[in-house]
Order: sequence, then structure tokens, then C-alpha cells
Amino acid sequence: MKELSRYSVIKDKNPREIVLLRGLGCAWRRCAFCDYHLDCSADAAANFELNRSVLARVTGEFGRLEVINSGSFCELDELTMSEIERVCRERGISVLHFECHWLYRDEIPGLRRRFAALGVALRIKTGVESFDCDFRENVLRKGIAERDPAKIAEGFDECCLLFGLTGQTAESMKADLKTGLEHFDRVCVNIMTPNSSELSPDKSVIDVFMREVYPLCRENDRCDVLLANTDFGVG
Ligand code: SF4
Repeated sequence: MKELSRYSVIKDKNPREIVLLRGLGCAWRRCAFCDYHLDCSADAAANFELNRSVLARVTGEFGRLEVINSGSFCELDELTMSEIERVCRERGISVLHFECHWLYRDEIPGLRRRFAALGVALRIKTGVESFDCDFRENVLRKGIAERDPAKIAEGFDECCLLFGLTGQTAESMKADLKTGLEHFDRVCVNIMTPNSSELSPDKSVIDVFMREVYPLCRENDRCDVLLANTDFGVG
């Protein structure tokens, strides 16, 4: 696997530092568009050593930190979680973002309590990718056994959407964006990029996105758009 960039600073919308940590591996691992779950190791001690060195770069300059790990926070080892707590305490982090698959939604309240005890508010992001349940589950194999967007959003603050795939249209992408902004505080739109998964970007759909959908989210402070999945500076 290529050498990954694991620390960056996001300066424009919602300024924050971001770290890409390594966990034990995504428990779901079935999404048809994904190969970043390959960034994992069953060696918790090695993960901790790597994660500690990445977390050492956090300065706390914005008081906000986003932690991603190509999976869900539950797949980070306990020493890494303790190190994240220490970094929050010592660098003045008051808002901490984690990512979490819908399968782990019952783990979120306990995590919120754990960090609230340090005065840290959590923002939990989940990959929904699309609110069209048939497309999401039969094509993307996302593993969210729920049709109702309001119920999907329960317990989460932010969602990711994935655009640029065959079958998507201007109308479907606009509808997904509208639903995401209705039910979540923030939406992160990812444009499909070539990877080793079974799905490929559809250039004609990406052209439609750039022409008809991107103008709707470019200036929206509640919406991040990653035209390449490394646009946050990590990955
Ligand atoms: S997109 Fe997320 S949940 Fe799906 S396989 Fe990849 S890491 Fe796992």
C-alpha cells in the first residue's frame, strides 16, 4: 500500500486539524466502492505506535480535531483512544469529530459521555452515500438496514454522500444533498475516484455534478466537497 499522508490542516470551511489513524479494520468491509478499509492492522501495538506519532503533530490551533481511521472509532485500540483523550486535554481540543458506520450507532452515547467528561463535544459522521435505499444497499452494499432518513440520522451529526457513479442523475444527487442537509448538521460530498474496488467513477455523472450540483454546495458552509478523496490532505 502506498505511503499515506496522515496529518493535515483544513483551513477553509469549519477549520480543523485532521488525522488519519489506523485501526483494527472495518468490521463491515463490504461497500462496493471502497478500498480504504485496507489501511488497517490486526497488530494493536503497532497501530498505537503509528497513531501516537500522528497525534503528536496535533497543535490544537483551532480547538477542533477530526479523527478518521478508514472505518469506525470502535475499531481504534484502547491505548489510541486514551492518547486522543490526552491530546484533547493538553492541546485544548473542545470539538472532536469521529467517523462511525451505522452498525455501531449504539456505541455513540457512551463515547459522547466519555469525552463530555473532558469538556469535549463530539461530532459523529457516518457514510450514508445515498438516501435511495435500493441504490445504496443493492449497488453500493452500504449495510444500512433503514429506509427513513430521519431514523438513519438518529445519533449522528454529519453524513457523507458519494457522487459520480453510474445510475446517478442531477435529480438524484440534488435530492440526496437536500435530504442530507435536512437531517444532518453537515454533509460531506465525496466524488468517486478510481481505486481498486469493483466500482469506477462515471465521468458523465461527474460532469453533471460539476455543472448542476456543485454550484449548490460550493458556497454552503454546512457542506464540504471532496473532488478527490485526498482533498482534506490525508489519505
Ligand atoms: S466505506 Fe467505510 S464502512 Fe464501507 S467498507 Fe469502507 S471503511 Fe468499511
